[in-house]
Amino acid sequence: MAQEPLGINSTCVHTGEAEDKQHKGAVSPIFVSSSYAYENVDVKRYPRYFNTPNQEGISKKIAALEHKEAGMIFGSGMAAISTAVLAFLKHGDHVIFQNALYGGTVNFIHKEFTRFGIEYSFTNGLNKEDFERELRPNTKMVYVETPSNPLLKITDLKMVGEFAKKNQLISLIDNTFASPIIQVPDDFGIDVVIHSATKYMGGHSDIAAGAVAASKENIDKIWSIAINFGGSLSDYTVWLLERSMKTMALRVNAQCDNAMAMALYLDEHPLVEKVYYPGLESHPEHELAKEQMTKFGAIVSFELKEQLNSSEFFSALKLIKPSLSLAGVESTMLSPSKTSHSLLSAEQRKEAGIEDKLIRFSLGIEEVSDLIEDIEQALKQIQ
Ligand SMILES: *Cc1c(COP(=O)(O)O)cnc(C)c1O
Repeated sequence: MAQEPLGINSTCVHTGEAEDKQHKGAVSPIFVSSSYAYENVDVKRYPRYFNTPNQEGISKKIAALEHKEAGMIFGSGMAAISTAVLAFLKHGDHVIFQNALYGGTVNFIHKEFTRFGIEYSFTNGLNKEDFERELRPNTKMVYVETPSNPLLKITDLKMVGEFAKKNQLISLIDNTFASPIIQVPDDFGIDVVIHSATKYMGGHSDIAAGAVAASKENIDKIWSIAINFGGSLSDYTVWLLERSMKTMALRVNAQCDNAMAMALYLDEHPLVEKVYYPGLESHPEHELAKEQMTKFGAIVSFELKEQLNSSEFFSALKLIKPSLSLAGVESTMLSPSKTSHSLLSAEQRKEAGIEDKLIRFSLGIEEVSDLIEDIEQALKQIQ
């Protein structure tokens, strides 16, 4: 075995490989059994115990990328989030959530927490005082997501890690938008790292999955309720995800470089009103982003000038597709006010800073010159 720890690309390719002992093939075999021997074996394996050979292999890869002891793979990002969150809570506990979270997570909190008798509050902003203000005697958890969707605000992870330690809270992060390639929350003292693996880990818009990485002790806690909730992932999909993750660092680095170039281009464009990207010096948390991320992510949000219609703009694009999800190798755009944030009232959206004309742009791996050309021709058509 090569020297540990491996570099990030070597980890993506090799860590957690299941050996093909029979034929010495180059890639992990798929173990599809839902029934395993139970006598004279070290581990009692079963798909819903999250411990088939493929599930164990990919969990090791995810743990290594997140600098954690252990990991788990789930059937979706929401299965990972709901299971991990509820594993640490009981009736009467209180949770502090940052105010800008993924819509599905917000829906989960509003719909499920009250009937389980779990209290929660959302912060007003992302500063230390905003978190401190929400502390109660029964607070047990703090939960953040950075960069945020769709305005790409940055939460100070070191601050959150210290706040959690000082007040004996468990800290959780949804690290989906960054990916472990550019942001490792463990380095800032965050306890539990969660992913929608549907996004950058899958990366080809053809897999739904979720992942969690944490200490062995915390993964054991999550595991003990995960086997009751049953949100495990089929080994066929686990195998596809392993295949995708081999190129994750290459993909994400290329996507982030495209996003930086695109943000600079849009920022200069006379028909663009505003650009949101943590890599721009004009972004309010640019310095903070530099401290906790190695690149600035592959999502750029922007607004066209008032006189331009974004639906017409989407229709005029040829290469860039309008699409609900994000993070694939293909570039996509979405209008948050019509999709992810359509359940909010116009007033709530305004309060959250999400204008109707806001566009969320997920950069793929195409040549950025082709993407720029597509935008140029579309703007010319609708002007
Ligand atoms: C997509 C997404 C989720 C939910 O993941 P699913 O795989 O759709 O269940 C959670 N958090 C973030 C930030 C996401 O983008």
